[in-house]
Amino acid sequence: MKLESSEPRTGNDNGYEKIERYDNQTIQDLSGHYRDILTLIGEDPEREGLNKTPERVAKAIQYLTNGYSIDPVEILKSAMFREDYQQMVIVKDIEIYSMCEHHMIPFFGKAHIAYIPDGYITGLSKLARVAEAFSRRLQVQERLTVQIRDCIQDTLQPLGTAVVIEAKHLCMIMRGVQKQNSITTTSAFTGEFLENARTREEFIHLIGTRLS
Ligand SMILES: [Zn+2]
Repeated sequence: MKLESSEPRTGNDNGYEKIERYDNQTIQDLSGHYRDILTLIGEDPEREGLNKTPERVAKAIQYLTNGYSIDPVEILKSAMFREDYQQMVIVKDIEIYSMCEHHMIPFFGKAHIAYIPDGYITGLSKLARVAEAFSRRLQVQERLTVQIRDCIQDTLQPLGTAVVIEAKHLCMIMRGVQKQNSITTTSAFTGEFLENARTREEFIHLIGTRLS
């Protein structure tokens, strides 16, 4: 049994500064559209506080959707090792930040990932990076959960893969559709986690979550 919490992120690991590979033409085009949006909502894009906002927002959106240019399979393959270990490997409490594709408003929370190796293991941090690569796209939580599972299952071909995501959706909270603190939980399993109730229960117990 291997149980690991994802490392807390430090401030400089989180900022936009880290990604310097902005596509200048795209930033320029996006900025023009955001300037129009400011005007359309009744703002004055020329006033001092908003002067550079279109460009900042353009860079922010490019950063928040940079998962499209990351190949999660390559992430796993970059640290895939032959190993006879056949116990459950769990990485829990992986912070995720994504945006719902219906409103382009953030949802965020935690992902818990487990797999039971069948000949190959991967670096623990790579599981978190796979979650991030799929998160930084326009998403629905259900698809995000399944994509992470399928990527691990197809690449490492373990005896089973389990993914649980617990997230708050600002599109619900800010727009007052649901209770303020509602958390959406999604799960996706393969192999041993599907077929063996005890394995699944062990995983659920270890991540400390109750699935409805
Ligand atoms: Zn939404």
